[in-house]
Order: sequence, then structure tokens, then C-alpha cells
Amino acid sequence: MAHPAAARLTIDLDALARNYALLARTAVGAETAAVVKSDGYGLGASEVARRLWAEGCRSFFTARLAGGEAVRRALGPDRPAVIFLLDGLAPGHWERLSAARLTPVLCTFPQVEAACALAAAQGRPLAVALHVDTGMNRQGLAPEEAELLANSRERLAWLDIGLLISHLGSADEPDDARNARQLAAFRKVRAQFPEARASLANSSGIFLGPDYHFDMVRPGVSLYGGGPEARPDPRLSPVAILEAPVLDIRRVDAGEPVGYGSRRRVEGATRAAILGAGYADGVIRAAGHGGRAFLGGRLRPLLAVTMDLTIVDLGDAPAETGGMAELLGPNVTLDDLASAAGTVAHEVLVRLSRRAERVYLG
Ligand SMILES: *Cc1c(COP(=O)(O)O)cnc(C)c1O
Repeated sequence: MAHPAAARLTIDLDALARNYALLARTAVGAETAAVVKSDGYGLGASEVARRLWAEGCRSFFTARLAGGEAVRRALGPDRPAVIFLLDGLAPGHWERLSAARLTPVLCTFPQVEAACALAAAQGRPLAVALHVDTGMNRQGLAPEEAELLANSRERLAWLDIGLLISHLGSADEPDDARNARQLAAFRKVRAQFPEARASLANSSGIFLGPDYHFDMVRPGVSLYGGGPEARPDPRLSPVAILEAPVLDIRRVDAGEPVGYGSRRRVEGATRAAILGAGYADGVIRAAGHGGRAFLGGRLRPLLAVTMDLTIVDLGDAPAETGGMAELLGPNVTLDDLASAAGTVAHEVLVRLSRRAERVYLG
């Protein structure tokens, strides 16, 4: 049983499955992989990967080596998924990578060289993926480096490049001209690696349309309920539901300050609900201005987020001490909370802490 004073994080795996099905339908014709980096966007990569496997997902992307190893352990020998490592082949990682049967996504030229050297030492080609930067300027070989590799028979002989990926920088803004520029650049690179399957779209890229789907799509945040255009999307179900107990309801006189510092004051007299969750549970402190909680059947403004407690302007909403308030879920959506906190849904999710009691549904 939950301790009555503890925040509760419900992770709805049935909602995850519905989101996966929606993304797969939208990208029909392409394989729908799942990005489970950073412990499945904070929701538990093991639980997420096992459920998505049951839904038909066969390819997973993680960032760090330990994350990839954890997903392999969670899936076990009976679920032989392909697990890609976006960090690629870092020095000293090969033994662990190979023991966990992870596929490195090579993302720098030195990594390409290292992979070739390893393959030569083993006397057989290495199964890899290749990340090419088409305009995000973050990760991946420059197009010139990719071309150099495409023209290097000697290197290609040691690499079994099963997948070519690139990542979109502005897919959540469908009208941004960078999308079409990256698409054109990706097509050019793809023509140089005709044997490899191709993957360009993250969550929001899927909704840019079939031109962006290629052979595989790689959604992350929309699996977990984040809208592709950084605003709530009714097609997606909330997966993470954070609730906190109402510990106390107190009167606050007009003009009184609330919480730390004296700048935040209530205008008229009101009632403040004190919730048993704070930034230590993952409620981003910046959401104290502009964020909302759902309690007593209403959405009410947050007044302050402190480490363990959140103060809500309850007004005359009929909430009671001992009840639960929603800080994230079907009423307080991921994207609304993110925009109130001045961040993205991805960050709201990965900040959900292990302190809140976790309950998995489905
Ligand atoms: C994180 C990531 C994704 C998933 O992005 P979302 O916006 O969460 O869908 C896909 N591809 C790469 C390379 C990534 O780093």
C-alpha cells in the first residue's frame, strides 16, 4: 500500500501500447523501433521494452552502454531484439558491447576507423549502424565523411552497415524549411549506401508524412505521450501520471507571500493546498509559475514548487485533505507542464524521480 504522504507515479503500459500502435499505423510500411534511452525516458526501460516487445517492437535505441546492457538483460535470451547504441563505439567499450550483443551506431570518423580495426583483428566484418549529420549539427558523420567512407572499399569490407540514420532538428515545427533540407541531404547520403536500411524520423518526424518514414522510424517521446508538435495531442494517451496527496489546506490572506522569498504573493484571500510532492519527485521547480494541478475536479494554478511540497492556489475548489491531486496526467498534460516549466516533454519525463512510489499498470 502507498504511504499516504508519498507521491505516486503511475506508469500506464496499456497507454504506451496504444501510443506504439498509433505511431506504427502512422508509419505503416516502415518498421517502428522504440527509443528507450535514459531509462525509457525515465519511466523504466525494462518495463517499457518488455511491453513494447509484446506489442511487436523488435528494435530499440539506447544512448549509453549501461542502458543498452540493461535493456538486453530485461529482454533476456527469449526476446532477441536488435539494440542500437547511439553513443556508438567508444574506446574501451567493445567487450561489453559485444557481450550484450549491442549494435553500435557509429557517429564519428574515428569510431569508423576503430570499428574497421576491430573487425580486421577478428577477421570478419562488424555489424554496425551509421549516423550521418544532415543538418542538426550535433551527432553523426559529416556528409563529406560519409562520402569518403562510401568510396573506401577497404573500410567498407570490414563493416556490415545494416542501418543508416540521421536525426531531424526541427521536426516539431512542420513548417521549418530545415526539415526539407535535411530530407534532401539524407536522400543523397542514402544513395551512397544502397545496401543499408534507412531511418530518419523521430516522433515528430513520423507526422511529417511518408516521405520521412523510409525503412524504420524511431519514436521516443510520443510513445510516452508527448505531442509531436510540443503541445498536447489528443491522439496520444498519457503514460506517466504523477499524483500527490493533499497534506493540508490553509487560508492565505490577500497580499501574503507564499513559499520562499517574498516576491510571489496571492492577490486576493484564498486557500492554499499543500501537496506532498516537490522537485525531489521530479516536479520541475520552474513550473511554480504558470503550471497547474488538478484537484477537486478543477485545474488550479501552482504557487510554488519546493523540494518536498508544492503549494497550489485552491480557491474554492472542493478538495479535501487526504485526497490526491494530479500534477501530471490526463488533465495536467505533459506538454502543458513542459511549456509552463520552460522546457520540453522529454525533460519533464526524465526528471521524474525514483522517490515517487511507482505503480505499473498493464
Ligand atoms: C532521442 C532520439 C530520438 C527520439 O526522439 P523523440 O523526439 O523523443 O521522438 C530518435 N533518434 C535519435 C538519434 C535520438 O537521439
